[in-house]
Amino acid sequence: MQKRKISILGSTGSIGTQALDIIESSGRYELFALTCNSRIDDIVRQTEKFSPRFVVVSDETKYSALKSALSHTTTKVLSGMSGLVEVVTHPEVDIVLTSVVGNIGLVPTIEAIKAGKIIALANKETLVTAGEIIMPLARAHGSTILPVDSEHSAIFQCLNGESGDTVDKILLTASGGAFRDFTREEITHKKAIEALKHPNWSMGQKITIDSATLMNKGLEFIEAKWLFDVAIDQIEVLVHPQSIIHSMVQFKDHSIMAQLGVPDMRVPIIYALDYPKRFPNNVKPLDFMTLNALTFSKPDLSRFPCLGIAIDSLRKGGVAPTVMNAANEVLVDAYLKDQIGFYDISDSIQKVMAEFETISHPNIEQILWADQETRERVSHLLKR
Ligand code: NAD
Ligand code: MG
Repeated sequence: MQKRKISILGSTGSIGTQALDIIESSGRYELFALTCNSRIDDIVRQTEKFSPRFVVVSDETKYSALKSALSHTTTKVLSGMSGLVEVVTHPEVDIVLTSVVGNIGLVPTIEAIKAGKIIALANKETLVTAGEIIMPLARAHGSTILPVDSEHSAIFQCLNGESGDTVDKILLTASGGAFRDFTREEITHKKAIEALKHPNWSMGQKITIDSATLMNKGLEFIEAKWLFDVAIDQIEVLVHPQSIIHSMVQFKDHSIMAQLGVPDMRVPIIYALDYPKRFPNNVKPLDFMTLNALTFSKPDLSRFPCLGIAIDSLRKGGVAPTVMNAANEVLVDAYLKDQIGFYDISDSIQKVMAEFETISHPNIEQILWADQETRERVSHLLKR
């Protein structure tokens, strides 16, 4: 069997390294390109292990250092956005795993779609900021988008063989994050270091903070709307602290399909890469006898306003989700550096969104402009 060639955007991150782990044990893929932002020590180690054709460092100031560190290999070194685009559009590439964090993934994802690649999409910010453009673009270029996010992988699996008009609603499950059981007063004083202690999943820092604010579920709500083409009122969020049911679909006959498993991202990653096939892997199976209970509750939007803000941005449409997402990225970064408090994230997103001029049905240039403009406005707000 010919191995499929894969480029990984963000191979040094949490998703990227888990992908490498399961790709290596599967033996079914050839690594065409690995990419990172600036941590070149990690990508040097990965290159020595996997011998990809290309590596890309996004930060151009690290290019020379990376090139000399890899001078003993045959791997070609590229840098910057042009390097990222080159390795995802190369004619030999079959699949692109987009596992960078943040809106930086938008441009390379669009270029990979235009080149007709299969996209295994982990980078949810891309769909949040430009879902209205991405999905039709993928259809027009015959590019398949396969979700990697565990909830969306679950929904996608539940929809296997079903037609869209049979769906009544999507039940999106949420762990509730690190502060699920604290009062608003207690959460007010929580620092990033505590928010980073996620109960069930080990993930990158940005998404772990997003989980604590429930913004992650807001981003996933928007991601689900675009991926599965449902109305806003057809998506319901359920807090399910055990993270065993990864999401569900309720059909018109009120039959419900759920996808379950231990919380391990390697399962949805390899499902997207191998789709529509399934192969054995070495992820441990779920043992029902060790489960005490599966519980569910409504999310509390007063303690976790970010979820409501994200859904509002989707209702508003236009550039509102782009502005919401960009503001969140800057504010989460500030929270991680202990420059602001927990509720400054939601308060400032709302403030910036309220002041931002409406642009309906934006094109990519307008989305990129709104993203950049928002970052500047939030940075300005933070300085004050
Ligand atoms: P992470 O912070 O661990 O890794 C991010 C990766 O992106 C790194 O390889 C980094 O080098 C790269 N990167 C960062 N900034 C970049 C830039 N400016 N240019 C080029 N590359 C850059 O993040 P993660 O947890 O792996 O998450 C990646 C994406 O997957 C996010 O969109 C996240 O929401 C999504 N996701 C993650 C998980 C998870 O379990 N970690 C689950 C579902 C979805
Ligand atoms: Mg998820």
